[in-house]
Order: sequence, then C-alpha cells, then structure tokens
Amino acid sequence: MARTPVVVGNWKMHGSLRDIGPLVTGVKRGCAEAEGVEVGVCPPFPYLADVRDLLEGSAIRLGAQSCHAEPKGAFTGEVSAAMLKDLGCDYVILGHSERRHGLGETDAVVNRKLKAALGAGLTPILCIGELLAEREAGQTLAVVERQLSGSLQGFPPDDVARMILAYEPVWAIGTGKTATPAQAQEVHAAVRKIVERLAGRAVAQAIRIQYGGSVKADNVDELMSQPDLDGALVGGASLDPDGFSRIVRFKRK
Ligand code: PEP
Repeated sequence: MARTPVVVGNWKMHGSLRDIGPLVTGVKRGCAEAEGVEVGVCPPFPYLADVRDLLEGSAIRLGAQSCHAEPKGAFTGEVSAAMLKDLGCDYVILGHSERRHGLGETDAVVNRKLKAALGAGLTPILCIGELLAEREAGQTLAVVERQLSGSLQGFPPDDVARMILAYEPVWAIGTGKTATPAQAQEVHAAVRKIVERLAGRAVAQAIRIQYGGSVKADNVDELMSQPDLDGALVGGASLDPDGFSRIVRFKRK
C-alpha cells in the first residue's frame, strides 16, 4: 500500500515575529520542488495567523502544537480545536512527550483532545513513545500499546483513519540521539499491528506513522528507507529552512 509520506515541523516555543518571515520564505523555497510528500509546519499559537499568511501560494500546511479538549469555556490560557480550524490549521499535534511528561497529559486527556480535534475537522498527529528507562527495561512495545489503546479508546475505525501517528522515543527528542533505522522500524511495524487490532487491517495499512526524534538532513534518508516509516515529525531541525527542506526532500535508499 502506497502511503504519501508526511513531514511536519514542530517549532515548539521558538521564534519571534522577526524570525518567522525568513524561516517561512526559506521553507517555501526549499520545499517548492518536493514531490509526493505532504509538508506542514506547527508554529507557536501567537504566530499561526502570520505563518498562515506567509504560506499563501504554497502547498505547505499549517498546524498547531496542542488544543484543549473542550469546545469553549472558562479555561484561561487555552485554545480550542475550533479556534485552530478557524485560523486555517489542518493539523494539531496531540500527546507530545513534552506535554505528557512535562505537563502531566494522560492518555485519557489525549483521548478527549483527539475527539475535539476530529470534531473540529483537524487532522490530529498523535504522538507516542517510550522513555529511556522503559526501553532499557524492555517495555517499549508495551508502552506504545498502552498509549495507543488509551488514546484511541472508543474511536471507530473511520475516526482512526483520519489521524496521523508519530512514534517519538522520548530519549531521542532534542538529544541528538536517533533511533537506528532498525529500532524505529521494529516499533513502527508493531504500532501498525496494534492499529490493526484496534481499527482493522485496512486502517492499519493506510495510516501514516511518522518517526520523530533528532531527525536531521544526514539521517533522514536511512530512516525513511524503512518500510513502515511514513515521514517525520521534526523539532530542532525544522527551525533551519535548509535542513528542514532537505529532510522534506529525503531520498529512500
Ligand atoms: C519533536 O519535538 O517532536 C522532535 C522530534 O524534536 P527533535 O527533532 O528536536 O528531536
């Protein structure tokens, strides 16, 4: 089954009004020739509208880094999925490890946010992945199974089919340590099996599973050569337009 790879930049809490112009211009220029790959960028909330305007005329999509589970209400500082849709977002990253482990976001919360995102017409990018201690204890597959079962609980196959998954080993995020292509492939294949159990074979074969964790221009080709890796979620390297564009133009070996 041919799956269109999807490469998305997660800018995290970086950038300024002054930086985003050159960054988006560089990404647009570098990605203009990219074919057969879906591309997106997820700036911080305050810059979404500016980045949307700067992206005009390109195929690069806009995404946000989180949303609240409720549609509206007394939730100071929060942003709803409908607001993101209103601003022109296509994607929303949910369950990122920096929110799971830094802000206490549980699978149950992620589950409710996924519902909100789908209800607003957004494509969620659902992040899963193990801590270093969990990998060393041989628990990697049990952890991703638990995260997927908890986050996807109650969703019919049609809803799961509208999501993108991102396997991001926590020990590889922002550390410069990347999973080897074989390590990533092992988990991606297992994730596809878990999705098959939860949502059926057709959804499992069609769903895109990104890899995330220190993806760079010099390691992307080998990673993307693995059969179950369908693109990348890119943190640090997405702030460099040349590096990000090279990642988008990866070459399978
Ligand atoms: C991320 O934040 O999703 C990520 C993968 O970060 P980095 O590429 O910097 O490891």
